[in-house]
Amino acid sequence: MKELEQYRLNAAAHLLIAREEQSREIVALREKIEAITADIALQGIAFTRATRPLPEGKVCPRCWIWDGKLIELGCVPSASKADIYKCPTCKEHITTNAAG
Ligand SMILES: [Zn+2]
Repeated sequence: MKELEQYRLNAAAHLLIAREEQSREIVALREKIEAITADIALQGIAFTRATRPLPEGKVCPRCWIWDGKLIELGCVPSASKADIYKCPTCKEHITTNAAG
């Protein structure tokens, strides 16, 4: 009968370890859900800006849409007919056709 008692004790120890592992997994998943939910909220705000006209002036579209920042683009000297602008913050290059 000692073997049966030992079997029961081993099963209890095994189940306890499994429960602790699953509890850690649940905590990690909840943290991931919170991070994704926060990211979705930020993307929703960026999406709203992306669906509306850009602010007046030569404003960096990347900084405006993703970060909500009004950063004025700087001109980049160019030999071509196109106008080239560079954002001093995100370093994005924007090329516009001089005719359009
Ligand atoms: Zn920018």
